[in-house]
Amino acid sequence: MTLHSLDPRAPWVISTHDLGRRPGSMRRSSPVLPAPVDLAVGMIGVPKDADVELDIRLEAVMEGVLVTGTARVPLAGECSRCLDPLTSEIEVDFQELYFYSAEDAGEDDLLLDGELLDLEPVFRDAVVLALPLIPVCGEDCPGLCAECGVKLAEAGEDHRHEKIDARWATLQGLVEDNKDDQEG
Ligand SMILES: [Zn+2]
Ligand SMILES: [Zn+2]
Repeated sequence: MTLHSLDPRAPWVISTHDLGRRPGSMRRSSPVLPAPVDLAVGMIGVPKDADVELDIRLEAVMEGVLVTGTARVPLAGECSRCLDPLTSEIEVDFQELYFYSAEDAGEDDLLLDGELLDLEPVFRDAVVLALPLIPVCGEDCPGLCAECGVKLAEAGEDHRHEKIDARWATLQGLVEDNKDDQEG
């Protein structure tokens, strides 16, 4: 339960002025809002100020305003296998009842501030739950070589390393040093 005054100019603060309080009254809107800051988990997130396209339905009920919505959210991050930058999009659904009065609301419930409600915390929660834990640039991304770190998609399928015994590796190093000396 939050009791702080909302800034009516903040992009995610929605006015219920046109809705009124008569139960059954309903309003739909499709705003495009700038993504809030710091909305990321691990290697992927929503770029700050990116356009979030929403479809929102406000419905007056006895205790408050029921908000039901869908958001199309652009994402940017890194592939967890090959570390290439990637962009994608997710769609999230959310629903929240904003109470008129703290007396009706539970500890975790949200309250209206006069005619205003803050959609940001509800949107944040929905996005954080929907973000991919292990983002990949493609389902078949082969990732990086565990031996040398080269990108396997570029190195080709036959990229592999000869397994050389450590003692032979030292000898081979000596041979190559010798060759350099003779050439130089
Ligand atoms: Zn990748
Ligand atoms: Zn390699």
